[in-house]
Amino acid sequence: MSRYDCTRAELAELLAGQPAYRVRQLWDGLYRQLAAPEELTVLPATLRAELAARSELAPALELVTEQLADDGATAKWLFKLPDGERIETVLMYSERRCSVCVSSQAGCAMGCSFCATGQAGYRRQLRPGEIVEQVVRAARAARDAGRRLDHVVFMGMGEPLANFAAIWRATEAIVGDLDLAARHVTISTVGVVPGIHRLAAAPLQVNLAVSLHAANDELRNELVPLNRRYPLAALMAACRDYVEATHRRISFEWALIAGVNDRERDAEELAGLCRAIGAHVNLIPLNPTPGYPVLGSPPTAVRAFRDALFSLGVNATVRKTRGRDIAAACGQLAATAVGQMAAPSRRPVPRRHREDEGARRVFPR
Ligand code: SAH
Ligand code: SF4
Repeated sequence: MSRYDCTRAELAELLAGQPAYRVRQLWDGLYRQLAAPEELTVLPATLRAELAARSELAPALELVTEQLADDGATAKWLFKLPDGERIETVLMYSERRCSVCVSSQAGCAMGCSFCATGQAGYRRQLRPGEIVEQVVRAARAARDAGRRLDHVVFMGMGEPLANFAAIWRATEAIVGDLDLAARHVTISTVGVVPGIHRLAAAPLQVNLAVSLHAANDELRNELVPLNRRYPLAALMAACRDYVEATHRRISFEWALIAGVNDRERDAEELAGLCRAIGAHVNLIPLNPTPGYPVLGSPPTAVRAFRDALFSLGVNATVRKTRGRDIAAACGQLAATAVGQMAAPSRRPVPRRHREDEGARRVFPR
Protein backbone atom coordinates (compact mmCIF):
# COMPACT_ATOMS: atom_id res chain seq x y z
CA MET A 1 0.00 0.00 0.00
CA SER A 2 1.35 3.42 -0.96
CA ARG A 3 0.03 6.91 -1.55
CA TYR A 4 -1.37 6.33 -5.05
CA ASP A 5 -3.18 3.18 -3.93
CA CYS A 6 -5.48 5.23 -1.68
CA THR A 7 -8.98 5.97 -2.90
CA ARG A 8 -10.51 9.32 -2.10
CA ALA A 9 -12.57 7.65 0.64
CA GLU A 10 -9.39 6.24 2.17
CA LEU A 11 -7.77 9.69 2.09
CA ALA A 12 -10.87 11.00 3.89
CA GLU A 13 -10.46 8.31 6.54
CA LEU A 14 -6.85 9.34 7.08
CA LEU A 15 -8.09 12.89 7.61
CA ALA A 16 -10.88 11.99 10.02
CA GLY A 17 -11.50 14.85 12.44
CA GLN A 18 -10.14 17.45 10.00
CA PRO A 19 -12.33 19.90 8.06
CA ALA A 20 -13.77 18.31 4.91
CA TYR A 21 -11.82 20.59 2.55
CA ARG A 22 -8.56 19.00 3.70
CA VAL A 23 -9.44 15.91 1.66
CA ARG A 24 -9.61 17.97 -1.50
CA GLN A 25 -6.36 19.73 -0.60
CA LEU A 26 -4.55 16.43 -0.11
CA TRP A 27 -6.06 14.95 -3.28
CA ASP A 28 -5.11 18.09 -5.27
CA GLY A 29 -1.63 17.87 -3.81
CA LEU A 30 -1.16 14.27 -4.95
CA TYR A 31 -2.84 14.44 -8.36
CA ARG A 32 -2.66 18.10 -9.44
CA GLN A 33 0.55 19.34 -7.88
CA LEU A 34 2.14 15.86 -8.14
CA ALA A 35 3.57 16.52 -4.70
CA ALA A 36 4.32 14.55 -1.55
CA PRO A 37 2.12 15.23 1.51
CA GLU A 38 5.03 16.88 3.33
CA GLU A 39 5.39 19.39 0.49
CA LEU A 40 1.82 20.66 0.76
CA THR A 41 2.28 24.03 2.44
CA VAL A 42 -1.46 24.60 2.22
CA LEU A 43 -1.75 22.12 5.12
CA PRO A 44 -0.78 23.08 8.70
CA ALA A 45 2.77 21.94 9.55
CA THR A 46 1.62 19.52 12.28
CA LEU A 47 -0.84 17.82 9.91
CA ARG A 48 1.82 17.62 7.21
CA ALA A 49 4.17 15.88 9.62
CA GLU A 50 1.40 13.52 10.72
CA LEU A 51 0.52 12.60 7.15
CA ALA A 52 4.16 12.16 6.17
CA ALA A 53 4.48 9.57 8.95
CA ARG A 54 1.46 7.50 7.78
CA SER A 55 2.51 4.27 6.09
CA GLU A 56 -0.55 4.45 3.78
CA LEU A 57 0.86 7.66 2.30
CA ALA A 58 4.44 6.46 1.91
CA PRO A 59 5.95 6.69 -1.58
CA ALA A 60 6.17 3.42 -3.53
CA LEU A 61 9.26 4.31 -5.50
CA GLU A 62 12.75 5.11 -4.35
CA LEU A 63 15.01 6.41 -7.10
CA VAL A 64 18.21 4.34 -7.30
CA THR A 65 19.73 5.78 -10.47
CA GLU A 66 18.88 8.02 -13.35
CA GLN A 67 20.59 7.62 -16.70
CA LEU A 68 20.26 9.99 -19.64
CA ALA A 69 20.67 9.40 -23.35
CA ASP A 70 19.85 11.05 -26.67
CA ASP A 71 21.15 14.44 -25.47
CA GLY A 72 18.84 14.40 -22.46
CA ALA A 73 15.73 13.48 -24.46
CA THR A 74 15.57 10.00 -22.89
CA ALA A 75 15.82 9.34 -19.17
CA LYS A 76 15.78 5.90 -17.62
CA TRP A 77 15.02 5.57 -13.93
CA LEU A 78 15.77 2.54 -11.82
CA PHE A 79 13.39 2.45 -8.86
CA LYS A 80 13.45 0.32 -5.74
CA LEU A 81 10.06 -0.80 -4.43
CA PRO A 82 9.27 -1.04 -0.70
CA ASP A 83 10.07 -4.79 -0.65
CA GLY A 84 13.39 -4.30 -2.44
CA GLU A 85 12.23 -5.34 -5.94
CA ARG A 86 13.44 -3.17 -8.80
CA ILE A 87 11.72 -1.78 -11.86
CA GLU A 88 12.58 0.67 -14.61
CA THR A 89 10.67 3.57 -16.13
CA VAL A 90 11.66 5.51 -19.25
CA LEU A 91 10.72 9.13 -19.98
CA MET A 92 11.05 10.29 -23.57
CA TYR A 93 10.84 13.81 -24.98
CA SER A 94 10.38 14.48 -28.65
CA GLU A 95 9.46 17.64 -30.53
CA ARG A 96 5.77 16.95 -30.35
CA ARG A 97 5.19 14.60 -27.45
CA CYS A 98 6.37 13.60 -24.07
CA SER A 99 5.83 9.94 -23.22
CA VAL A 100 6.50 7.68 -20.32
CA CYS A 101 7.07 3.95 -20.70
CA VAL A 102 5.90 2.28 -17.51
CA SER A 103 6.49 -1.16 -16.01
CA SER A 104 3.49 -3.28 -15.06
CA GLN A 105 5.34 -6.13 -13.31
CA ALA A 106 8.73 -6.60 -11.66
CA GLY A 107 10.22 -8.88 -14.31
CA CYS A 108 8.09 -10.90 -16.72
CA ALA A 109 6.99 -14.52 -16.86
CA MET A 110 6.46 -14.69 -20.62
CA GLY A 111 10.03 -15.63 -21.48
CA CYS A 112 10.30 -14.09 -24.95
CA SER A 113 13.77 -15.11 -26.05
CA PHE A 114 14.88 -11.74 -27.47
CA CYS A 115 13.77 -9.59 -24.50
CA ALA A 116 16.03 -8.75 -21.54
CA THR A 117 13.06 -8.58 -19.15
CA GLY A 118 11.95 -12.04 -20.26
CA GLN A 119 15.48 -13.38 -19.92
CA ALA A 120 15.63 -12.18 -16.30
CA GLY A 121 12.34 -13.85 -15.30
CA TYR A 122 9.36 -12.93 -13.17
CA ARG A 123 9.45 -11.39 -9.70
CA ARG A 124 5.97 -10.07 -8.87
CA GLN A 125 2.93 -8.06 -9.90
CA LEU A 126 3.00 -4.30 -9.44
CA ARG A 127 0.28 -2.65 -7.41
CA PRO A 128 -1.81 0.07 -9.06
CA GLY A 129 -0.12 2.71 -6.89
CA GLU A 130 3.31 1.56 -8.05
CA ILE A 131 2.23 2.05 -11.66
CA VAL A 132 0.53 5.41 -11.10
CA GLU A 133 3.55 6.73 -9.20
CA GLN A 134 5.79 6.03 -12.22
CA VAL A 135 3.48 8.28 -14.26
CA VAL A 136 3.43 10.93 -11.52
CA ARG A 137 7.26 10.96 -11.38
CA ALA A 138 7.40 11.40 -15.14
CA ALA A 139 4.72 14.10 -15.16
CA ARG A 140 6.56 16.00 -12.48
CA ALA A 141 9.92 15.73 -14.24
CA ALA A 142 8.31 16.88 -17.49
CA ARG A 143 6.68 19.82 -15.73
CA ASP A 144 10.01 20.80 -14.17
CA ALA A 145 11.49 20.71 -17.67
CA GLY A 146 8.79 23.05 -18.97
CA ARG A 147 6.92 20.27 -20.76
CA ARG A 148 3.70 18.35 -20.23
CA LEU A 149 3.55 14.58 -20.08
CA ASP A 150 0.93 13.55 -22.63
CA HIS A 151 1.41 9.85 -23.46
CA VAL A 152 1.64 6.73 -21.34
CA VAL A 153 2.73 3.43 -22.85
CA PHE A 154 2.64 0.14 -20.97
CA MET A 155 5.80 -1.06 -22.69
CA GLY A 156 8.21 -1.23 -19.78
CA MET A 157 8.93 -4.37 -17.79
CA GLY A 158 6.22 -6.98 -17.60
CA GLU A 159 3.10 -8.12 -19.43
CA PRO A 160 0.31 -5.66 -18.61
CA LEU A 161 -2.56 -8.01 -19.47
CA ALA A 162 -1.16 -10.58 -17.01
CA ASN A 163 -1.78 -7.95 -14.30
CA PHE A 164 -5.13 -6.75 -15.61
CA ALA A 165 -6.83 -5.53 -12.43
CA ALA A 166 -3.85 -3.38 -11.42
CA ILE A 167 -3.15 -1.89 -14.84
CA TRP A 168 -6.81 -1.11 -15.28
CA ARG A 169 -7.08 0.64 -11.92
CA ALA A 170 -3.90 2.55 -12.77
CA THR A 171 -5.33 3.52 -16.17
CA GLU A 172 -8.49 4.83 -14.52
CA ALA A 173 -6.31 7.01 -12.27
CA ILE A 174 -4.11 8.15 -15.17
CA VAL A 175 -7.15 9.24 -17.17
CA GLY A 176 -9.58 10.20 -14.40
CA ASP A 177 -7.24 11.76 -11.83
CA LEU A 178 -4.08 12.77 -13.71
CA ASP A 179 -6.15 13.98 -16.67
CA LEU A 180 -4.35 12.28 -19.53
CA ALA A 181 -6.46 11.41 -22.57
CA ALA A 182 -7.42 7.72 -22.77
CA ARG A 183 -6.50 7.78 -26.48
CA HIS A 184 -2.96 8.70 -25.40
CA VAL A 185 -2.62 5.57 -23.29
CA THR A 186 -1.30 2.45 -25.05
CA ILE A 187 -1.35 -1.02 -23.60
CA SER A 188 1.08 -3.41 -25.24
CA THR A 189 0.53 -7.15 -24.96
CA VAL A 190 2.38 -10.17 -26.18
CA GLY A 191 -1.02 -11.78 -26.82
CA VAL A 192 -2.86 -12.60 -23.60
CA VAL A 193 -6.15 -13.45 -25.31
CA PRO A 194 -8.52 -13.22 -22.30
CA GLY A 195 -7.01 -9.82 -21.47
CA ILE A 196 -7.70 -8.56 -25.01
CA HIS A 197 -11.35 -9.65 -24.68
CA ARG A 198 -11.59 -7.83 -21.35
CA LEU A 199 -10.03 -4.73 -22.87
CA ALA A 200 -12.56 -4.88 -25.71
CA ALA A 201 -15.35 -4.64 -23.16
CA ALA A 202 -13.68 -1.99 -20.97
CA PRO A 203 -15.16 1.51 -20.93
CA LEU A 204 -12.03 3.61 -21.63
CA GLN A 205 -10.90 3.88 -25.23
CA VAL A 206 -7.22 3.17 -24.74
CA ASN A 207 -4.97 1.96 -27.56
CA LEU A 208 -3.93 -1.63 -27.96
CA ALA A 209 -0.59 -2.75 -29.37
CA VAL A 210 0.02 -6.44 -29.96
CA SER A 211 3.61 -7.68 -30.05
CA LEU A 212 3.36 -10.08 -32.95
CA HIS A 213 6.94 -10.58 -34.29
CA ALA A 214 5.90 -13.64 -36.30
CA ALA A 215 2.84 -14.31 -38.44
CA ASN A 216 2.99 -18.11 -38.48
CA ASP A 217 2.67 -20.37 -35.44
CA GLU A 218 5.90 -22.24 -36.02
CA LEU A 219 8.12 -19.16 -35.80
CA ARG A 220 5.96 -17.44 -33.18
CA ASN A 221 6.12 -20.49 -30.89
CA GLU A 222 9.87 -20.09 -30.97
CA LEU A 223 10.04 -16.33 -30.39
CA VAL A 224 7.06 -15.92 -28.08
CA PRO A 225 6.40 -18.99 -25.90
CA LEU A 226 2.91 -17.72 -25.00
CA ASN A 227 1.91 -18.50 -28.60
CA ARG A 228 1.68 -22.19 -27.64
CA ARG A 229 -1.11 -21.29 -25.25
CA TYR A 230 -2.80 -18.70 -27.47
CA PRO A 231 -1.93 -19.49 -31.08
CA LEU A 232 -2.38 -16.97 -33.89
CA ALA A 233 -5.93 -18.03 -34.76
CA ALA A 234 -7.12 -17.30 -31.20
CA LEU A 235 -5.07 -14.11 -31.03
CA MET A 236 -6.47 -12.80 -34.31
CA ALA A 237 -10.03 -13.66 -33.22
CA ALA A 238 -9.48 -11.62 -30.05
CA CYS A 239 -8.06 -8.73 -32.10
CA ARG A 240 -11.08 -8.83 -34.39
CA ASP A 241 -13.37 -8.78 -31.35
CA TYR A 242 -11.47 -5.75 -30.00
CA VAL A 243 -11.69 -3.82 -33.28
CA GLU A 244 -15.40 -4.58 -33.68
CA ALA A 245 -16.18 -3.56 -30.10
CA THR A 246 -14.06 -0.41 -29.94
CA HIS A 247 -13.73 0.71 -33.59
CA ARG A 248 -10.11 1.45 -32.79
CA ARG A 249 -7.17 0.42 -34.90
CA ILE A 250 -4.73 -2.06 -33.40
CA SER A 251 -1.03 -1.78 -34.02
CA PHE A 252 1.20 -4.80 -34.38
CA GLU A 253 4.71 -4.52 -32.98
CA TRP A 254 7.34 -6.30 -35.00
CA ALA A 255 10.95 -6.45 -33.79
CA LEU A 256 12.96 -7.06 -36.95
CA ILE A 257 15.47 -9.88 -36.45
CA ALA A 258 18.01 -10.43 -39.22
CA GLY A 259 17.24 -13.49 -41.29
CA VAL A 260 14.51 -14.60 -38.86
CA ASN A 261 11.44 -12.45 -39.51
CA ASP A 262 12.59 -9.84 -42.03
CA ARG A 263 12.16 -11.87 -45.22
CA GLU A 264 9.76 -11.24 -48.09
CA ARG A 265 7.67 -14.20 -46.94
CA ASP A 266 7.35 -12.71 -43.44
CA ALA A 267 6.10 -9.42 -44.91
CA GLU A 268 3.51 -11.29 -46.95
CA GLU A 269 2.24 -13.31 -43.97
CA LEU A 270 2.14 -10.22 -41.78
CA ALA A 271 0.32 -8.20 -44.44
CA GLY A 272 -2.35 -10.90 -44.59
CA LEU A 273 -3.04 -10.61 -40.86
CA CYS A 274 -3.00 -6.79 -40.98
CA ARG A 275 -5.45 -6.54 -43.84
CA ALA A 276 -7.91 -8.83 -42.07
CA ILE A 277 -8.37 -6.34 -39.22
CA GLY A 278 -6.98 -3.06 -40.64
CA ALA A 279 -3.95 -3.10 -38.35
CA HIS A 280 -0.97 -0.78 -38.57
CA VAL A 281 2.58 -2.04 -38.04
CA ASN A 282 5.30 -0.59 -35.83
CA LEU A 283 8.66 -1.88 -36.90
CA ILE A 284 11.34 -1.95 -34.21
CA PRO A 285 14.85 -2.92 -35.27
CA LEU A 286 15.78 -5.58 -32.67
CA ASN A 287 17.77 -4.09 -29.81
CA PRO A 288 20.66 -6.11 -28.46
CA THR A 289 20.13 -8.02 -25.20
CA PRO A 290 22.60 -10.19 -23.28
CA GLY A 291 20.78 -13.49 -23.76
CA TYR A 292 19.95 -13.38 -27.47
CA PRO A 293 22.90 -13.47 -29.83
CA VAL A 294 20.98 -12.81 -33.07
CA LEU A 295 21.35 -9.38 -34.68
CA GLY A 296 18.68 -6.86 -35.51
CA SER A 297 17.98 -6.24 -39.19
CA PRO A 298 20.28 -3.64 -40.73
CA PRO A 299 18.68 -0.31 -41.78
CA THR A 300 18.44 -1.32 -45.45
CA ALA A 301 16.53 -4.49 -44.52
CA VAL A 302 14.25 -2.47 -42.23
CA ARG A 303 13.40 -0.09 -45.08
CA ALA A 304 12.93 -2.95 -47.53
CA PHE A 305 10.53 -4.67 -45.11
CA ARG A 306 8.56 -1.46 -44.62
CA ASP A 307 8.38 -0.92 -48.38
CA ALA A 308 7.26 -4.50 -48.92
CA LEU A 309 4.41 -3.93 -46.44
CA PHE A 310 3.49 -0.67 -48.21
CA SER A 311 3.29 -2.41 -51.55
CA LEU A 312 1.03 -5.03 -49.96
CA GLY A 313 -1.30 -2.24 -48.83
CA VAL A 314 -0.24 -2.11 -45.17
CA ASN A 315 0.84 0.98 -43.27
CA ALA A 316 4.03 0.64 -41.28
CA THR A 317 6.23 3.02 -39.35
CA VAL A 318 9.77 2.42 -38.22
CA ARG A 319 10.09 3.24 -34.55
CA LYS A 320 13.05 5.41 -33.74
CA THR A 321 15.33 3.64 -31.31
CA ARG A 322 15.73 5.56 -28.08
CA GLY A 323 18.18 5.11 -25.24
CA ARG A 324 20.11 2.13 -26.61
CA ASP A 325 23.38 3.24 -25.00
CA ILE A 326 21.78 3.18 -21.53
CA ALA A 327 19.84 -0.07 -22.21
CA ALA A 328 16.56 1.86 -22.11
CA ALA A 329 15.34 0.81 -25.56
CA CYS A 330 12.50 -1.66 -26.23
CA GLY A 331 13.25 -5.02 -24.68
CA GLN A 332 16.38 -3.91 -22.86
CA LEU A 333 14.89 -3.21 -19.43
CA ALA A 334 16.26 -5.59 -16.83
CA ALA A 335 16.59 -3.45 -13.68
CA THR A 336 20.13 -4.68 -13.25
CA ALA A 337 21.88 -4.02 -9.96
CA VAL A 338 23.70 -0.69 -9.84
CA GLY A 339 27.15 -2.24 -9.84
CA GLN A 340 26.46 -3.87 -13.19
CA MET A 341 25.16 -0.77 -14.90
CA ALA A 342 26.94 1.94 -16.78
CA ALA A 343 27.74 4.93 -14.57
CA PRO A 344 24.70 7.13 -14.04
CA SER A 345 24.81 10.50 -15.71
CA ARG A 346 25.69 13.42 -13.55
CA ARG A 347 22.96 15.84 -14.47
CA PRO A 348 19.28 15.04 -14.11
CA VAL A 349 16.88 16.00 -16.88
CA PRO A 350 14.95 18.72 -15.05
CA ARG A 351 18.01 20.79 -14.21
CA ARG A 352 19.30 20.50 -17.73
CA HIS A 353 16.07 21.92 -19.04
CA ARG A 354 15.91 24.58 -16.36
CA GLU A 355 19.33 25.75 -17.47
CA ASP A 356 17.89 25.96 -20.93
CA GLU A 357 15.09 28.27 -19.75
CA GLY A 358 15.17 31.46 -21.73
CA ALA A 359 17.86 30.10 -23.97
CA ARG A 360 17.30 27.93 -27.02
CA ARG A 361 14.96 25.10 -26.14
CA VAL A 362 16.20 21.73 -27.32
CA PHE A 363 12.70 20.30 -27.25
CA PRO A 364 10.31 23.18 -27.71
CA ARG A 365 6.94 23.10 -26.06
N1 SAH B 1 5.08 -7.34 -22.41
C1 SAH B 1 4.52 -6.40 -23.31
C2 SAH B 1 4.99 -4.98 -23.10
C3 SAH B 1 6.47 -4.76 -22.81
S1 SAH B 1 7.63 -5.09 -24.09
C4 SAH B 1 4.79 -6.82 -24.73
O1 SAH B 1 5.62 -7.67 -24.95
O2 SAH B 1 4.12 -6.29 -25.61
C5 SAH B 1 7.53 -3.67 -25.17
C6 SAH B 1 7.88 -3.99 -26.62
O3 SAH B 1 9.28 -4.22 -26.80
C7 SAH B 1 7.17 -5.21 -27.14
O4 SAH B 1 6.63 -4.94 -28.40
C8 SAH B 1 8.30 -6.20 -27.22
O5 SAH B 1 8.02 -7.24 -28.13
C9 SAH B 1 9.43 -5.34 -27.66
N2 SAH B 1 10.76 -5.93 -27.49
C10 SAH B 1 11.14 -6.85 -26.57
N3 SAH B 1 12.44 -7.14 -26.72
C11 SAH B 1 12.89 -6.39 -27.74
C12 SAH B 1 14.17 -6.21 -28.33
N4 SAH B 1 15.23 -6.87 -27.91
N5 SAH B 1 14.27 -5.34 -29.36
C13 SAH B 1 13.20 -4.63 -29.77
N6 SAH B 1 11.98 -4.75 -29.24
C14 SAH B 1 11.81 -5.61 -28.23
FE1 SF4 C 1 7.57 -10.04 -21.27
FE2 SF4 C 1 6.99 -8.36 -23.27
FE3 SF4 C 1 9.54 -9.04 -22.73
FE4 SF4 C 1 7.87 -10.86 -23.78
S1 SF4 C 1 8.56 -8.94 -24.76
S2 SF4 C 1 9.29 -11.20 -22.07
S3 SF4 C 1 5.97 -10.31 -22.79
S4 SF4 C 1 8.18 -7.88 -21.43
